Amino acid sequence: MTDVTLTNVRKAFGDVVAVKDISLTVPDGEFVVVVGPSGCGKSTTLRLIAGLESVTEGDIRMGGESVVGIDGADRDVAMVFQNYALYPHMTARRNITFGMRSSGSFTDAEVASRVEEAAEVLDIADLLDRKPAALSGGERQRVALGRAIVRDPKVFLMDEPLSNLDAKLRIRMRAELAKLHARLGTTTVYVTHDQTEAMTLGDRVVVMYDGEIQQTAPPQRLYDYPANRFVAEFIGDPAMNVFPVEVRRDGGAYRAGRGALQVALPADDSLTSLAGREALLGVRPENLHVEPRRGPETVEATVTVTEPLGDSLLIECAVGDVALKVHASPRSGIEPGDTVFLSADAARLHLFDPETGEARYHSDPEAPVTGMAAATSSASGE
Ligand code: ATP
Repeated sequence: MTDVTLTNVRKAFGDVVAVKDISLTVPDGEFVVVVGPSGCGKSTTLRLIAGLESVTEGDIRMGGESVVGIDGADRDVAMVFQNYALYPHMTARRNITFGMRSSGSFTDAEVASRVEEAAEVLDIADLLDRKPAALSGGERQRVALGRAIVRDPKVFLMDEPLSNLDAKLRIRMRAELAKLHARLGTTTVYVTHDQTEAMTLGDRVVVMYDGEIQQTAPPQRLYDYPANRFVAEFIGDPAMNVFPVEVRRDGGAYRAGRGALQVALPADDSLTSLAGREALLGVRPENLHVEPRRGPETVEATVTVTEPLGDSLLIECAVGDVALKVHASPRSGIEPGDTVFLSADAARLHLFDPETGEARYHSDPEAPVTGMAAATSSASGE
């Protein structure tokens, strides 16, 4: 096992800069998930670590040693791909052992015992004599994982390994991957575009956009204290509501609003510098509430769409030209066209800079005092 460090890594394919200037440290044994939309550079980042691409600039170290210029085959990493990359004419057993046998560094007894161990961990002992065509998608992915495990590499690199599986199986395999990591403790870098997968699997999550790291943090911290508007809207489903407001001082307290949509902010001195300025206000759908009646701090909204989710009723409503998504009670009977009165959790509001999108304020009283500084430094990747 080992740690992996990327320092100011840049990768250009001709005029296309896939990875701009990223720095990231993955400590020994950590499971890090790199998440972001299509084309943000996450697969390229993984391929650079694997040695399948060479860096244009910057350094990659494993266990303190630079691996720049070292062939992928000599980096002691095992990669698991989305399409499994199994040989169709070989049995599962031969697929798993092929790399070990062709390296020539393992005895027959070692090969046999490692296959047995991996098959037990992955629960595929009964499938070892089948060829890939006779296996389901989930079983194929287990064989592909088996091939990675038997090599006992220093680092696992996984590129969307679950995205070819149906939704139910993906959830099951997700849990199994988490168990596997708890058992093996191998340093893992896992790439996905699925924010739920990122949140559930990662010790830490790296959010990428446009070739740059936007924020690196443990999942809950990312959700509670997004460093910028992109992270705020990318993490969480349905996405955080974000809309333009003006921040105003109101006696000893502060307000943020736009027309009829006015929200009370805490009496917090750190808002002084934002008073009188434009900002973007962010509030998650679960932090808005439908109140039974009008109150001093409620906002009147017209329901435009309702989506029953079973455990909640997701409603979309309009306040002037702002559309808001709100989780309402599942059996509230709210329908499109209804008027509702909304309140917001004062301790779960976020303000972002309207130009840069950087977070300027999180109203959570538990927010670290250095919240903004931490958010800024994490935007650089640490
Ligand atoms: P996806 O989720 O769609 O796989 P990604 O975040 O993994 O996306 P990358 O595959 O890393 O994104 O690609 C980042 C950018 O680099 C894209 O604009 C892509 O077109 C470009 N790119 C990747 N590989 C190459 C290549 N071999 N030659 C030219 N451009 C490339």
